[in-house]
Amino acid sequence: MDAYDVIVIGGGPAGYVAAIRCAQLGMSTALVDEYIGKSGKPALGGTCLNAGCIPSKALLDSSEHYDRVRNKYASHGIKTAEIDLDIPTMIGRKDKIVSTLTKGVEGLMKKNKVTWLKGHGQLEAGMKVGVIPTGGKGDKQVYQAKHIIIATGSAPRTLANISIDHERIVDSTGALDFQEVPAKLGVIGAGVIGLELGSVWGRLGAEVVVLEAMDDFLAMADGEIAKAALKEFKRQGLDIHLGTRVKKAEADADGVTVEYEDAKGGHTLRVDKLVVAVGRVPHTEGLNANGIDLFIDESGYIHVDEFGSTNVPDIYAIGDVVRGPMLAHKGSEEGVMVAERLAGKKTRVNHDTIPWVIYTWPEIAWVGKTEEDLKQEGRSYACGTFPMRASGRALAMEETVGLVKVIADAETDEILGVHIFGAAASELIAEAVVAMEYQASAEDLACIVHAHPTVSEAVHEAALDVHRRAIHK
Ligand code: FAD
Ligand code: AMP
Repeated sequence: MDAYDVIVIGGGPAGYVAAIRCAQLGMSTALVDEYIGKSGKPALGGTCLNAGCIPSKALLDSSEHYDRVRNKYASHGIKTAEIDLDIPTMIGRKDKIVSTLTKGVEGLMKKNKVTWLKGHGQLEAGMKVGVIPTGGKGDKQVYQAKHIIIATGSAPRTLANISIDHERIVDSTGALDFQEVPAKLGVIGAGVIGLELGSVWGRLGAEVVVLEAMDDFLAMADGEIAKAALKEFKRQGLDIHLGTRVKKAEADADGVTVEYEDAKGGHTLRVDKLVVAVGRVPHTEGLNANGIDLFIDESGYIHVDEFGSTNVPDIYAIGDVVRGPMLAHKGSEEGVMVAERLAGKKTRVNHDTIPWVIYTWPEIAWVGKTEEDLKQEGRSYACGTFPMRASGRALAMEETVGLVKVIADAETDEILGVHIFGAAASELIAEAVVAMEYQASAEDLACIVHAHPTVSEAVHEAALDVHRRAIHK
């Protein structure tokens, strides 16, 4: 029986990063993964590379280009003739980016001498992992491990009364592969994924109706930011209905009929395609967790402590399959932490400074506490804000929608949260993460020189505004 120091189950951003770091630290490492890519062949990178972060950003980028040409070029004095869309080319570009990256991860495995065991991994007693080869090619192989890291990720949440037919009614993976723009698109769920995919197809010309169960829009974001974003997304044409309860959805040859209720009563909506984007659930199917008494909590997550240790000695779990936000970078950092702790280091992940990004346009990004969190905690705080319309660079770019908000402790001035709705928010948030990681005060951020003209000056001005010293507001 082949033996490894570490066997990682799951080759997404949590698992493959853990495997690379283990190998870098001198441990013999195998990575078990069963994902079959769009080409029908095994592909590393998990949800993120194959059907998540990367393909969605590729399509968001393409659709942003189209939207700019259609709606934004004229005011720059750039005249365009008739423009046309070629969706298969757009989807093909996305697929090429995905395959470049998944092959890149395969190359990294080879370079780091990580053995890729292609198949379905199962936990077995005595620190063994059984691997059922992909596509029924051969018998189950069993491997011995000193340590096991589980990184089996997550899967789309389904609704009991709606079946995904992968044709008219799709999950997020299906919505990344439409071959034409649906005239009318329904999206259930106004979360991160629903808004991103709704934005893609909306910009490409679909009439988009979003049905969200909660009364609050983006309840996990800061309320002031969510309010500004809702106003802007509605202006862009997303028809967002809050406080709705979808009763059923049925597909036929021409489209989908969706029945839902809200405070005003029952409604019927007819759409060409329906995307179900109501969140994701941890994936432990077929792992044989029960067989080795691995503790899974009532929500389906593998229970871990702050260092990723499960209740079974020498077995760890990381990424979407454990508590915390389902974000690729969170899983990757947990992977590095577990690998380094196996090598005797004292690495930890600060879960309080994990940045969130929603890649709409403008983007939404934040780190730390919202005003609502702090009110609930009864903590006294001071806020500074700065509108994008007062930023010279944002004005030059004609991207004046949004704001930056810095929240600091009222007594110590420590930054507790930074919230951005605006152009390049996904990049700007990194400065806030660094500041918070070093427990910087709003004053510290206010004292740092920011290049002019850049959108980052809005972060600077919001920090100054905490003490009512903003210059351009
Ligand atoms: P996964 O990426 O889900 O990987 C798990 C892997 O394990 C898969 O390959 C799976 O096949 C394999 N596996 C599972 N069980 C077994 C088994 N028993 N044996 C063998 N293999 C197994 N996050 C961001 O941070 N930024 C974004 O912009 C972003 N955009 C997203 C857009 C969409 C449309 C979606 C769906 C998700 C997005 N996410 C984004 C979330 C991100 O994809 C996940 O947080 C991330 O992929 C989780 O990584 P993971 O390694 O824990 O799991
Ligand atoms: P996220 O977890 O960011 O992908 O967001 C999923 C969104 O779907 C959240 O805003 C949920 O409130 C929403 N949601 C969950 N279940 C339903 C449902 N049955 N109908 C409409 N929206 C839902």
